[in-house]
Amino acid sequence: MPDKRDYYEILGVNRTASKEEIKAAYRTLAKKFHPDLNKDNPKLAEEKFKEISEAYEVLIDENKRAKYDQYGHAGVASDFGKEGFTWRDFSHVSDLEDIFGHDIFSDFFGRGSIFNDFFGTRRWGFEQPEQRVKRVQVEITLEQAYRGLSTEVAIPHMDVCAECGGVGAARGTAPKTCTYCNGKGEVQQEQLQGFGRIIKIGACHICGGRGKSIEHPCPSCHGCGEVQKLDKISVKIPPGVDNGTTLRITADKAAGKLKEDVYVIVSVQSHPVFHRQGSDIYMEKAISLTAATLGSKIDVPTLDGNASMKIPPGTQTDTLFRLRNCGMPHVKDHGYGDLYVRIIVHTPKDLTKRQRELLEEFEAIEMRK
Ligand SMILES: [Zn+2]
Ligand SMILES: [Zn+2]
Repeated sequence: MPDKRDYYEILGVNRTASKEEIKAAYRTLAKKFHPDLNKDNPKLAEEKFKEISEAYEVLIDENKRAKYDQYGHAGVASDFGKEGFTWRDFSHVSDLEDIFGHDIFSDFFGRGSIFNDFFGTRRWGFEQPEQRVKRVQVEITLEQAYRGLSTEVAIPHMDVCAECGGVGAARGTAPKTCTYCNGKGEVQQEQLQGFGRIIKIGACHICGGRGKSIEHPCPSCHGCGEVQKLDKISVKIPPGVDNGTTLRITADKAAGKLKEDVYVIVSVQSHPVFHRQGSDIYMEKAISLTAATLGSKIDVPTLDGNASMKIPPGTQTDTLFRLRNCGMPHVKDHGYGDLYVRIIVHTPKDLTKRQRELLEEFEAIEMRK
């Protein structure tokens, strides 16, 4: 095996570089070496991309960086598997997502991607890096979307079981070494594929990858050593937010409450009166035959109280009027969208005798015109 290059050298930063400098260097290099952007030599680009990602994985993490500074590559060897760094060890997928957008997920984990070459040894039954990015949905009304709001969102996360201290065994009992995998936690399986042969490494199905078997499971965590807890974090939803908007809550923004970044997906309920299209709103308003014919001033509801609207004489049904700045706030900009009011002229039913006479008289005059 050739000597490994120095991580600082790989990212082109000096040994005192700040986190920001390391981030910036990785960002620049990731764009340079993304295999999809290097169609002429994707193999080399893949190798480079993996190399910078390994360096980033170590240097961006204070713990790993300290070990590396003191002991070199040997200091972080235990953070990776026997075969060294693999994509499974990469815990900053969300940073790549920031650089390349959400598609990076399908690039990494999807079908047919050249990234699949990275997974020459496939694993199953283990946690995949993509699962480390949490997504939580929050549902709000259109009125709330109009004003924006601060709300609390419960983020589930797994925590060490307090009852058994994470061991998974009931009090007074101890786990035994799994005899199926001899305590290794994983088993190998060979498979033929084409002319080649791939070795699959999977979690031991007897012990679930822990290497220990538990005869008397802990009643609190049922033997898995972890229990689910809910972290409440407050989330600020900006005015004008649209259905499907994703807000990213970074671990530091959540005041240390989160171990990893969380994506909050906002779902805006549909409204019985207002239909939204971008920052514009559409609604229908029924008016009387006489208001449409003679003209009138009417009140229409908006998301910010009633607005007054002039109906000119002779208004036809289906006419669309626009009330400027009565729509949704623009999220990224100042100002508001518009409110479009579609007028529906209401044809009167159940006329009194007098009303009928008047309308018949009206019709007679119309005919003579
Ligand atoms: Zn086992
Ligand atoms: Zn437990």
